[in-house]
Amino acid sequence: MGFQPQQNVDLAELTTFKIGGQAAFYTVVTSADELPEIFAWLKQNSLPHLVLSGGSNTIFGDGIFRGLVIKISIMGFAVLSESEKSAVITVGSGEDWDAIVAKTIDLKLGGIEALSGIPGMCGAAPVQNIGAYGQEIKDTTLSVEVFDTDNSVVTSLTNAECEFEFRNSTFKATQKDRYIITAITLKLSKLPPSIPQYKDAINYFKEKNISTPTLPQIRKAILEIRRNKFMDPAVMPNAGSFFKNPIVAELVAKKIIAQNPDVKVYPEDTKIIPLEGGNYKIAAGWLIQNLGLKGLELEKVRVDPNHALVLENKGGATQKDLKQLVSKIQDLVTKKYGITLEAEPVIVEF
Ligand SMILES: Cc1cc2nc3c(=O)[nH]c(=O)nc-3n(C[C@H](O)[C@H](O)[C@H](O)COP(=O)(O)OP(=O)(O)OC[C@H]3O[C@@H](n4cnc5c(N)ncnc54)[C@H](O)[C@@H]3O)c2cc1C
Repeated sequence: MGFQPQQNVDLAELTTFKIGGQAAFYTVVTSADELPEIFAWLKQNSLPHLVLSGGSNTIFGDGIFRGLVIKISIMGFAVLSESEKSAVITVGSGEDWDAIVAKTIDLKLGGIEALSGIPGMCGAAPVQNIGAYGQEIKDTTLSVEVFDTDNSVVTSLTNAECEFEFRNSTFKATQKDRYIITAITLKLSKLPPSIPQYKDAINYFKEKNISTPTLPQIRKAILEIRRNKFMDPAVMPNAGSFFKNPIVAELVAKKIIAQNPDVKVYPEDTKIIPLEGGNYKIAAGWLIQNLGLKGLELEKVRVDPNHALVLENKGGATQKDLKQLVSKIQDLVTKKYGITLEAEPVIVEF
């Protein structure tokens, strides 16, 4: 009978921000083998596609997407090889990211423990090179298996070909929309882990008097720290940190630091230090908080009253509402600090 997508599907509930209109066509994919037929159908009907996983980093438009939304649900987990010091695992892109982190810790494999508690699926993790508490997925990624929509074949990209950057990769930039990630292959470590060099984590273990924590102890710490930092999207819909921490040139940073000696700069240290290369990574949350914007409300969206970096849907918000708030924050930050804040989630217009 051929490929038959669902029609007129509501999108808001498929994302953690609960914003979005409808998809004219929608399908759930459980195997890469289904993709050639789907892309032949798209070509035949001259329709565009959008890929969706857990929806925790996606803000859909308010109208109708006149194309096909493809929800990825490709499962699978295997240990491909092991040595004394490491193991290589491969994971289906539709597996829940945090469940896989927990599983690797059960297997005594380290390298992604600081990425505990990040919502979403494994296939989305390389898209924005997820990161937290000093780890990024680029550090452990050996390769990413993809369906190449240009020629309808499954192929593999090396770590270098993924062009990972801070909250960015080829999947979000140079080859946007070209690849559908079907699996990720990670090289994890069997060596003893170390305390994530972030103030919250350092203080957590200092208080508990633990100098050489185990992987489960690090996971527990990160989950606890995150619980205090992020609003649960099930309670108040959001997409986590809304703005990327801006990386600015020394001259700009020095001016901000001179005017605001208490500005928060990453990596956090006893004194303000630059990144390798001399640029500075400023905490976007601090910039917003320092402007007194915590709790700012506009239409049905607001800045979380406790966490300046988290924008929230108070109920029934539209992408238009959100964009107004985003522009207001961006304008005020640019005016005060000369920095342009960039949104982290993928904002899809339709
Ligand atoms: C409370 C909260 C806390 C968060 N904390 C962090 C954090 O600490 N660090 C961090 O980096 N992020 C964080 N995020 C953001 C988000 O969880 C991650 O970006 C996550 O990887 C998104 O996964 P997802 O499955 O929900 O992606 P989705 O929102 O479904 O998709 C995100 C993007 O990836 C694309 N995509 C998804 N799957 C595929 C695929 N298989 N192939 C190709 N493209 C695909 C989509 O088209 C979309 O452009 C947080 C979000 C929330 C809500």
